[in-house]
Amino acid sequence: MEDLAVLLKQRGIRSTRLRLKVLQILVASKNAFSTTEMNTSLGGSEDRSTIYRILSGFYAEGIIERIVGVDGGLRYVYLPQSLSIQPSFRCSKCGSVSCLSPLPSSYLEEIQRHHLDNAVLVFSGTCSDCLRKRV
Ligand SMILES: [Zn+2]
Repeated sequence: MEDLAVLLKQRGIRSTRLRLKVLQILVASKNAFSTTEMNTSLGGSEDRSTIYRILSGFYAEGIIERIVGVDGGLRYVYLPQSLSIQPSFRCSKCGSVSCLSPLPSSYLEEIQRHHLDNAVLVFSGTCSDCLRKRV
């Protein structure tokens, strides 16, 4: 928790109870969160526009990444290595978005010789949770 407060301070963001809770949830999870999903993780009683402002503020400071889903909705995810290109997986049954392992560095070196306009790597299908539940 203290480390997270330091991380925010380094980016010039004041630590508040809610900012720290949001960041803690993002850091502890491999999943990407929409504003609604973040609110649910926080217990559902927070102000949605405040959560939106916190997430977009973290994104503006480069702390978290943003993923545009196939539904056009925005989701936010914490990536420890900010330069890695990380494919994501979207479940077409429950709508969850999770991050797959980052691409190997040899691949990134190769791709960095080109100028990238777009690096959206999204796999879709049925996630392991839904497969287990057999819905
Ligand atoms: Zn699913």
